[in-house]
Amino acid sequence: MSKQLILALSKGRILQETLPLLADAGISPAEDLGKSRKLLFDTNLPNVKLVVIRATDVPTYVQLGAADLGVAGKDVLLEHGAENLYEPLDLDIARCKLMTAGTAGEAPGRARRRVATKFINVARRYYAEQGIQAEVIKLYGAMELAPIMNLADEIVDIVDTGNTLRANGMEPRELIAPISTRLVVNKASMTMKHAQIKPLIERLSEAVKKRQNQPVSP
Ligand code: AMP
Repeated sequence: MSKQLILALSKGRILQETLPLLADAGISPAEDLGKSRKLLFDTNLPNVKLVVIRATDVPTYVQLGAADLGVAGKDVLLEHGAENLYEPLDLDIARCKLMTAGTAGEAPGRARRRVATKFINVARRYYAEQGIQAEVIKLYGAMELAPIMNLADEIVDIVDTGNTLRANGMEPRELIAPISTRLVVNKASMTMKHAQIKPLIERLSEAVKKRQNQPVSP
């Protein structure tokens, strides 16, 4: 069996924060990820390759063993389900909150609440746990528009500063889960490639700790 390791990275916002962390852990792509249309990259470590894919595809690649490791937001992991994965490390990047939100100053009305979200599994679970009947509507973007357009009473979405909500006359309501980016590992890889994976987790863990101990710049 090849002892090559494939690390799947989430494209977009998370990637911008992942690359400096990888660099701190001594892992750098052999070429500039931003300047290339390639999806598979060599790194300075001869046994580590990177794939750069959609955040929502990362759990699938790692669960099925196409990638040994992955970097994914907890929101994506909660929505996708995390069977066949270990989650050994909180990378402490892209922190935000998964929340319910609604029109500012308005209590949610209908007995059966309509909820627009891209996190339909998370939302169904959350409202069921709260004993609230919810009709969950899948949207792919611009969740904030749903209450304005009378499509939904509430949304479930990621909130960071809350500016997006406020700009659309909405307010955050209940916290569903605090979110950060996690390292995930395929369970079979963890066993079969333990000698390669363990030092990689240690390097990343050290890099995370070092950053956490750095004084915050004013
Ligand atoms: P904000 O206006 O700062 O509350 O940011 C909210 C929007 O930014 C959300 O609708 C998300 O789409 C996006 N966002 C903020 N933080 C993250 C994150 N850590 N991961 C993914 N999306 C995020």
